[in-house]
Parts: sequence; structure tokens; C-alpha cells
Amino acid sequence: MSDFPRAQKLAALFAVTAVVVLTLIFVNVNEPDAEVAVPTPTVDPNATPTAVPILSQQRIPWSAIAAEIRGAADTVAPVPCPFIDERDRQDNNFLSLTPSLTFVCDVPGLEATPIAPGRVVMRVTQAPLNSEKAAIVANGKDGPWVRAAAYGTFVVIDHGSLNGVRNATSVYAGLDSISADLRVGQLVDTSTPLGRIGRLMINGELVEGVLPFELLTDDTRFGADPLRANPPPASAGAELAALLADRVRLPVTTCNLPFGNPELNVGAPREYRSGTHNGLDFNCGTTNHDIVAAADGEVLFVVDDFTEPTPEDRDVVLANAALAVDTPFWTLAMLYGRFVVIAHHLPDGTPGSDDRIVTLYAHMSEIDPNIVTGRQVSAGTVIGQVGNTGTSTAANGILDGHPSVHLHWELHVNDRPVGYLSDPSETEPLYRQMLCDVAPATPDAATTPSASDPRC
Ligand SMILES: [Zn+2]
Repeated sequence: MSDFPRAQKLAALFAVTAVVVLTLIFVNVNEPDAEVAVPTPTVDPNATPTAVPILSQQRIPWSAIAAEIRGAADTVAPVPCPFIDERDRQDNNFLSLTPSLTFVCDVPGLEATPIAPGRVVMRVTQAPLNSEKAAIVANGKDGPWVRAAAYGTFVVIDHGSLNGVRNATSVYAGLDSISADLRVGQLVDTSTPLGRIGRLMINGELVEGVLPFELLTDDTRFGADPLRANPPPASAGAELAALLADRVRLPVTTCNLPFGNPELNVGAPREYRSGTHNGLDFNCGTTNHDIVAAADGEVLFVVDDFTEPTPEDRDVVLANAALAVDTPFWTLAMLYGRFVVIAHHLPDGTPGSDDRIVTLYAHMSEIDPNIVTGRQVSAGTVIGQVGNTGTSTAANGILDGHPSVHLHWELHVNDRPVGYLSDPSETEPLYRQMLCDVAPATPDAATTPSASDPRC
């Protein structure tokens, strides 16, 4: 282990983080749209990195840390380079058990490869951390979707059961590009190129060939949910619904509402999705229906380049996921297809203002090009069109004019859906209260049904 003094190490890592964030803010300050693939370097990218202090730190070999990480034995490193172990800075994070390693290669162009055989469950092309994303991260309201936005371009591999652990999932972030033929659902092994690793400002120098890497096992939030063993009281959902009534509106106003059908509500049994349905399904049948933001907020995360798995690959991924009890986070996200996540905040000083509130809009056929991470939206802002991406029907090539075309919509408070672990007969009244008792429309809002809307 490193004999670097802990306080000094933490201070150094914090300084690195601050430099990275501040540098990227500076680099991107004139480019508010998250469309820029690579930040303009502040130093000559072809220059050989010189004295980068953090590179002189003592490092642990991959084999040693792999043995230390539950479920990761018999793996290989994702790139043949030394790494910085950043777990120490995770202590205020619900991912505190997630190893977060930064591999530093110093040379451009290397390919990341999987640490073990598995299936691709997520491949997302997005701009690196820019000023808007950095501001979100700096707000301190961390969560899986903020984290996903900060990954930049990334690939996720579901390894299934590994060495007695029910599920292991690995994340390869900050990529320069993803291998062109890498598909969702694809079987990969330790020789499959995932993509070229990117670059990062470290201690004020742009270092080529850096790979932020994470390993998620069922020890973490992303695996078996500790709340299942210790569920919230039944009153929790009612309290949240009362808090959010008058603040949330229907996310789609031209499709069938789920009310009256327990199968379409939160808490309905599902073979996957952790065994229960975490959202509401609005059946549309065709893709020509607008989806709108359910409340004022800011876009946290967007998956707009989803590629459908083959039906066979999809089945294998889901069969493996069924062994994990709780569907692993990113494998579940694979089922969302093309999707958007928006963060909402209750007014400062009011109850719930410290809660992490997000809405999620899944299976979209199209996403409005203005909907990018960091963008502010109003209740009623059109974010895209309904679809069936991520469903088995879409995997079979049918993308419109089918009962599978629907909006799957989720409302989470602190990373769990309102009504979590409740029966659909108990959750439906909560969502009726929130969605049908609608606040007055804002000037730029879409047409909103009133509380007397017969569909409610
Ligand atoms: Zn659904």
C-alpha cells in the first residue's frame, strides 16, 4: 500500500479534481452546447508530459487491487498502464464501495479492453465534462445520472456472475471514441477493443491516454438494494406525493393514461427491472406524440445514440440479469433504449429541497437536439417523441404502429421511485394526486389537462 500520508494524498486528489473541473470550465466556457467532442487543449497536445507530480505517486499493481476487490479476481487490467486509486475521494458518495481508478498511460491512441468476458449493455457518445455539467456536479447533489453525465463518452460491460458475486459490471469512461462496430448486447472478451482512451488535465497538464474506470459489484447501490432488506414505511410514498402535488404534470398528454390498469403502474410485477415496474406506462401506439418535461428542471443525462441489441443478444443479457436478483443498474438502463433524465428542485427552504428529484423518459424514438446535459427546461417543454427503443419489439425491427410504442416514465426521489416496494393499488393514487392535480400552466407550457380532465 502507499505510504503517502493520507491527508496529503486526499489534498492532492482534491486539487487534481478541482484543476480538472476548473480547466474544463475554462476550456469550454464559450461552448455552452455539449456538442464539442474534444476540448481545445490549453497546452500542446503533442508535447511529452513532463513533471506531472501525481504520476510520481507510488502505485499498486492491478493484480493486487483486483484481489482486493470482491468479484474481480482473475481479471486483467483494461489498459496496460499504472493507475491512481481514487476510492478515497468517494467517501461522501453512495458509490463508496465502487472502485474508481484512473489509468494513466501518457500516450494517445491505446484501446481499452474488457477486464473479463461479458456483454455490452451501454455505449454512450457524449461530450466530455463541460461548464454546465461541471456546475451540476459542483452542486453536490450527486447521483447515478450526474455521474453518468460526467463519464463523457463511455462503455459499460455486464460480466454477470463473477467469482461468486452475483453481478459485476465495469465502466470505461472518458473515451475519445467507441469502436465503430461495438453493439449493445455484443459478447466481448478481454481482447475486444472497446474504444480509444481519452485525455485529461492532470495538475495543469493535458495528459494523453487516460482512462477513468469503475467496477460495480453487488456490494454497491447498483446491485442488491439494501432498502429491500429494510423497506421504507408505507407513509413515505404518501408524504412524497403530497410534497410534489401541484408541481408535476403529465409527461405526455395525447396518449392513454395508465390509471385503472395495475399492470401499467409503479409496483407492477416484472420479470426484469428488479422484479417490479418502477414507472408508469402511457400507451401511444404510434410515435407522433410529444413528450414534455413534467416540471421545471435541468437535463441531467441523455442517451441519444442507442443501438438495438439483436433479439438473441437481448435475451442472453436479460437471462444473466435474472440471476442478479436486482437487475444491475446499467443493464436496466439498456432496457430504456433512447432516454432522457431531468433533475428537479423544490424551492430552497421548503421541505424536500435537499432531496434528489429526477424524472426519466424512456423508449423515445427521437430526442430534441436542444435537449443536452445542463440545459434548463420548463414544465411542458417538448423533449422528444414517444417510441419503443429498448423493447423486444424494437429489437425485432418494428419501430412504429405497434402496442409497444409507449412512454415509460419514472419519478424518483433520492434514487427510488415514489411508492417504491408498494403494490400498484397503493401507488396509483399517489401518481394521480401528483399528475392530475396540475399547477397553472406557465406561458411556454404545452396544453395541460385540468384537474377535471376526465382521463384523470
Ligand atoms: Zn414501463
